[in-house]
Amino acid sequence: MIRARPGGLLRRLLLFILLFSLCFTVLASTVQLYFEYRREMRDIDSRMELIRAGYLASLERSLWDLNQEQLNVQLRGLVDFSDVARVQLTSPDFDVLQGNPDPVGPLRIDRFELDYQPPSGPVRHLGQLEVSTDLGAVHQRLYATGLTSLLWMSVFLCGLAVALSGLFYRLVTRHLQVMAEFARRIAAGDWHEPLHLDKSRSGNEDEIDTVAHALDDMRRAILNDIDRRESDRLALQDNRDELLRMVERRTASLMRAKDEAEAANLAKSRFLATMSHELRTPLNGILGMAELLRDARLDEREGKRLEALYKAGEGLLSILNEVLYFARLEEGVSHPEPVDFSVHQLIDEVLTLLEPRALGNDTLLHCRIDPQVAGLHHGAEQFLRQVLSNLLANAIKFTEGGHVSVEVVVLAQAPGQTGQRLRWRVKDNGIGIAPQMQQKIFERFTQASEEVAQRFGGTGLGLAISKHLVEQLGGQIGVESEVGRGSCFWFDLTLQPATGVAGVAPSSEPGQALNILVVEDVALNRDVVSGLLQRDGHQVWLAEDGEQAMTQCSVQTFDLILLDVHLPGISGVDVCKLIRGTAGPNRHSRIFALTASVQPALVRGYLDAGMDGILAKPLKLETLRQALAGQSAMPAPPHDDETMDWPLLHTHRTLLGEQKLQGLLAVLRDSILQHREAITEAIEAGDCTEVAHLAHRLAGSSDSLGFRALANVLRALEEAAMVNDESALGGLAPQLHEQLLRSQQTLADLLHT
Ligand code: ADP
Repeated sequence: MIRARPGGLLRRLLLFILLFSLCFTVLASTVQLYFEYRREMRDIDSRMELIRAGYLASLERSLWDLNQEQLNVQLRGLVDFSDVARVQLTSPDFDVLQGNPDPVGPLRIDRFELDYQPPSGPVRHLGQLEVSTDLGAVHQRLYATGLTSLLWMSVFLCGLAVALSGLFYRLVTRHLQVMAEFARRIAAGDWHEPLHLDKSRSGNEDEIDTVAHALDDMRRAILNDIDRRESDRLALQDNRDELLRMVERRTASLMRAKDEAEAANLAKSRFLATMSHELRTPLNGILGMAELLRDARLDEREGKRLEALYKAGEGLLSILNEVLYFARLEEGVSHPEPVDFSVHQLIDEVLTLLEPRALGNDTLLHCRIDPQVAGLHHGAEQFLRQVLSNLLANAIKFTEGGHVSVEVVVLAQAPGQTGQRLRWRVKDNGIGIAPQMQQKIFERFTQASEEVAQRFGGTGLGLAISKHLVEQLGGQIGVESEVGRGSCFWFDLTLQPATGVAGVAPSSEPGQALNILVVEDVALNRDVVSGLLQRDGHQVWLAEDGEQAMTQCSVQTFDLILLDVHLPGISGVDVCKLIRGTAGPNRHSRIFALTASVQPALVRGYLDAGMDGILAKPLKLETLRQALAGQSAMPAPPHDDETMDWPLLHTHRTLLGEQKLQGLLAVLRDSILQHREAITEAIEAGDCTEVAHLAHRLAGSSDSLGFRALANVLRALEEAAMVNDESALGGLAPQLHEQLLRSQQTLADLLHT
């Protein structure tokens, strides 16, 4: 900011006035001197004229008369004139000089000719008079006058300048200073004090007042603007606060809604889990009873129906599982279990099952299978059965007095692909589906129309499940339909050729009669198991819980004890431990666990408790027979060795199926690959915490899958790491290395892929 020097303007004004007055004074004095000089010159002229007119005649007379005395008096008279310095008369007779004979300063010399006119005769020249005027005196006078006037004028002008400056200061400068101070205050943010000039409020406004008013108006405008902004800001703040409160309220209500939804979802899941459990228990009973009926004397038609009933039960079980799966989509994925099966047989069974319904609808069922379709395939038969049943059931449901047909044709297989690509068609000439609904009906809980839903019932889940299953098998599903003319649902799938390994199990024959104790808390299950066993000629005892079981075990020897794991009170595992731990008649009897929970870690626990094998629920006669014959639940180990628990692995294979076991083994392989380096490094670095952590993780899964030696080394490592025994860690390192290598080799052998 440029600040004016205080008083700068005033000083300049003063300087200007002084300069100007000086020039003016000098000029005025010069003019005055000039006029004074002219006046002096005129005075001298008039004096000379006076001499000429008044004295010349008498001088001529005195000269003519030769009166010297008179002449002298007259000349002295002339010298007395002011400023006349010297008078000299020159004639043939006289030469008179009066006054200062030798004056100094500059002189003005006037010469007069002296002539006389005698009464007679011509004019006679008598001489000459010379008057010298002293100009020095004139000059001195002029100088004094000029100086005086200059002095006075200067004094006057200086006074004027001072007065003007004072006036200017009073009228302008001081107000300007106040205004500048005011502007500075405004700039510093002091907008509230108005501009006040120390000035008498006379009627007329001058320019200073105008500027002052303008400045004060500006201050007020700024103040208004600030006020307006402040109120805007407050309004904005209010809005923002309100918005924040709104967001908070919304968030809170959303959180509540989310909590409620989560609670509802949890309740739904619990309900479904409970329901599925409640449904599965009687269903297992139904399946068991059907199993029992198989041996009854039935004619072929009844046998077929029983078979259909059994398969339907199984289908229902898988539907139940699928509904559960749909309810908990995010929780897990259902894995199809591929088996060897016959397409012909599958279709035959599904049709048999649905025949009664078709008859009830006056609908005829047809089946056409491409002769090229192979006799046996390998694939997820349960899924296929499910899809086919869904589509056929729908076709029959929505067709009255018409035709429903199933067709399977072989499609051209893409090059490089193995197996047969099949197109399955389920055609009907029923009510048909409107074009706009043809895609939607594949969504969950969607039905073609309200009217259809009311008339035919249903859940709207069947097609969604079918689509899901087909897609999970790598296929596609679709529909072509026309309202009133019928529908054709189709799906394409590639089925692999039969492997012959996990094929349709050969029926085993009942072995020798045994004394068997069945410990099971659910009555229906008890009946099923005992029914199955008695049919094969075994003698069966029943116990409802652990206590009853222990009582019976103390008095009688059994060849076999079947123990439900989840018993009320003392659990099946503990019952087994008790039997094995106490010296009783059954200490060395065979004990099988009966359970639906067959995760490897749990199975490991059952075996560790002293069980000889595990039978998965729902119990099937075939598995039971194999177990009793020693084929399945307690199989003879292929080669027992220190490092591997082959029986455990075999149990897993039986319980879970080859595919799931392969998956678990692959997980172990990856986990070893992933942790091998890290654990070796941790041992080298003596990082006990990390060793304990890694060893613990790896030991768990190795143990569950029967990698006994590896698990042992890892446990030893874990224990050493827990007590910070670094030297023991170092000692175990070579063993660990060896076991890791061996396990990896074993895994590579076990994994087919
Ligand atoms: P649901 O049969 O339990 O209602 P679906 O998912 O199996 O559930 O079928 C959904 C809807 O698709 C049915 O409600 C029906 O409106 C329509 N739909 C399915 N199949 C047929 C068919 N063959 N003919 C006519 N409409 C059908």
